[in-house]
Amino acid sequence: MSPNETGSKSAARGNDKTTRNRRRLFGTNGIRGLANVELTPEFAVGIGGAIGTFFRKGQMLVGYDGRTSSPMLSKAIIAGLTSTGCTVYNVGMTPTPAIQYAVKPHMMDGAVMVTASHNPPEYNGIKVMAANGIELSREHEMEIEDVFFEERIKLATWNETGEIRRLSGILDVYREGMKKQIDVAAIQRQRFHVVVDAGNGVGGLVAPYLLREIGCRVTTVNANVDGAFPNRPPEPRPENLGELASVVKAVAADVGVAYDGDADRAIFVDEKGEIHWGDRTFALIEKDFLQDRRGEKIVTPVSSSNLIKDIADEYEAEVVWTRVGSIIVALTMQKIKANLGGEENGGVFYGPHQPVRDGAMTTALILNIMAKTRRPLSGLLAELPRYFIKKDKLTCPHELKHPVLESLIQQVKRMGADTTDGVKVSFPDRSSILIRPSGTEPIYRFYAEGRTAGRATQLLAEYKAKLQRLVGELAND
Ligand code: MG
Repeated sequence: MSPNETGSKSAARGNDKTTRNRRRLFGTNGIRGLANVELTPEFAVGIGGAIGTFFRKGQMLVGYDGRTSSPMLSKAIIAGLTSTGCTVYNVGMTPTPAIQYAVKPHMMDGAVMVTASHNPPEYNGIKVMAANGIELSREHEMEIEDVFFEERIKLATWNETGEIRRLSGILDVYREGMKKQIDVAAIQRQRFHVVVDAGNGVGGLVAPYLLREIGCRVTTVNANVDGAFPNRPPEPRPENLGELASVVKAVAADVGVAYDGDADRAIFVDEKGEIHWGDRTFALIEKDFLQDRRGEKIVTPVSSSNLIKDIADEYEAEVVWTRVGSIIVALTMQKIKANLGGEENGGVFYGPHQPVRDGAMTTALILNIMAKTRRPLSGLLAELPRYFIKKDKLTCPHELKHPVLESLIQQVKRMGADTTDGVKVSFPDRSSILIRPSGTEPIYRFYAEGRTAGRATQLLAEYKAKLQRLVGELAND
């Protein structure tokens, strides 16, 4: 029922363990699929029932993003949850981090968020959170999948079906929570002018209000929630942020920020109109964080820049590299008691607020650094070590992905390669190459980085050729 699933749509009728292993509903970020094709109301009632069975008549928050199909799907999920005796507190339209922040203070057993995050408008999705506000572990997701596929939904008796209540005010509590993490008076004194590009997603429900409350002048673009995402795709990639960059320059703002569809990721534009990819702004937050917390652990996926390690080295901190995926970063932080995590795509996990990625919190932290240092964002980012990153992909049939990876590991083993997720080879000149099979598409992805553009290009070419040879050899076997 999701892009991660390779089988037919008869998934719901499968009832053996091997079926479970073949089909996965939950991918790297919850369940995703085409609205009313894969994610139908019938499916949502069923998965709501499976989630409700897992939470055993618990108290659940339910919220949704601004997608056209979200109100319909959230109502169907609420029907499924209450059919198993769960009490549902409907929070309505909300950014994902705001509902995550509300779970603990309201002493809920969990939460369900209807969102497809950065995917195109025709998609939707379902994220399930535990009592701590963090998304469920893979093991718990599999328990829900088992209940669903084995048709073990435990319906409540007629007099024990769950109540549906309305819970308002979570956005106010969320904004107040973020203000506790920053020096509001220092930010107010700077009277920053900030351009917010919510991309017609739910980021427009929080960031402009938070920024005005902390004394910023705010100019918004694409701040009206529109499930058709008419102005730019919901993913804040540099190629989608030309409008934001030109508005920042046109109004002479201090900074611009863009969010993805559910506002857990933030990408920044400096006062000169230059767009910065997420690991550079994350490194800036890391540097500020480590100034007060020398030697702490920083969690980040292997796809992040070596820049994260450079900053950590400066403050005797340790970088814990993980597999790619926001849930893995959050769960690793929890396990090793780390307080800061980040991803190259603009996700920052600020533990003192909450250990999940959070676009508005990231914005507040960047403004806090600008106020504390009284320096422009371009200057702060220019001080960080400079890396050049080149990305590419190579077609590889699904059935060859695993053998290709095994052969590649054999070839680069003696070079001390990191095999946390795919293969990452690092060199003494601080350049590196990461080669990962895609989880969903028949491709391999390459991320090369070097201190010069030439070095990144050369590494990419060398390893792409190497992999091409391996794919050719194994295809002919
Ligand atoms: Mg998102």
